[in-house]
Amino acid sequence: MKFLLDFDGTLTNIQTEYQSDHDKLVKRMAEIGIAPERFVALFNKAVEDIMQQPTAYGWPDNGRLTAFCDEDIFMHIIAGIMRIDEWIASDDAAYDDIRKALSDNHVSLMQVAEECHLALCHEPLDAFNTPQPEVVNALRTLLDRDCEIVIASNSEAQRIIEKLEFVDLKPVAHDDNPSARFRVRGHAKKYALDDNPRPVQFGNRTIDIARSHYAQIIREERPQVIIGDVFSLDLALPIEMARNDPMIYGDMQIYLRTRPYTPQWAIDCILNPPEDCPVIARLLNHFDDLPNLVLRR
Ligand SMILES: [Mg+2]
Repeated sequence: MKFLLDFDGTLTNIQTEYQSDHDKLVKRMAEIGIAPERFVALFNKAVEDIMQQPTAYGWPDNGRLTAFCDEDIFMHIIAGIMRIDEWIASDDAAYDDIRKALSDNHVSLMQVAEECHLALCHEPLDAFNTPQPEVVNALRTLLDRDCEIVIASNSEAQRIIEKLEFVDLKPVAHDDNPSARFRVRGHAKKYALDDNPRPVQFGNRTIDIARSHYAQIIREERPQVIIGDVFSLDLALPIEMARNDPMIYGDMQIYLRTRPYTPQWAIDCILNPPEDCPVIARLLNHFDDLPNLVLRR
């Protein structure tokens, strides 16, 4: 049995990393002259605002949204910053202090946010940014049962491998050995949208599945199990591939790794998949349930 797993948020708990990213942003803004209480209040207002219109804000790629801001807490930062940028671009004098601080320091808010996110990727490894113990146990059980495990992440492979080695797992990079049983495929670009949109309705959301980078990975790997924590990025495309090509992908099992930030609409998409969808779709509320769930068809 072959597994295609997402990494961040699926094998790790990103809550603490999000907090660290948020705190870096507040600290960096203080360095350029915006008091922490001022920036936190502004950021909270922006997040509250985008969460009221989650189909309008999220992670942009190729001029469209590749995931919605209510699907993942890191997207609160990207989309929250976009919202503040809109306010800054207006002529509202209420944002003069932010405009002045950014202009005096010759930076944009998005540049500051990107700097902070990049710094997060260089933090020392610890329990908070590496796979959780129940994940490690479940992966060991699957490997012991001769399962193949491929981790596909938008991050670079080496960083993911270091995080897995930190918890005594020994994967190899896909580029070094594409037939290894336990591999990491970095730069998976699941977020990357093609030029021509392919909108598909899932419940009350329209998700763009024009993701040829990710489709190529699914075609090459032909996994029986796909697991991810962000419906738009990880699961919408394979569900649609199975609907269009049930002879090839109809035996797949699709799992949404639920987290405190998982939106209800994504849970509903898994609990009520399209009628003509041949795959088994389930919630994965506890990672240690995985070995038993996958074998129970
Ligand atoms: Mg993820």
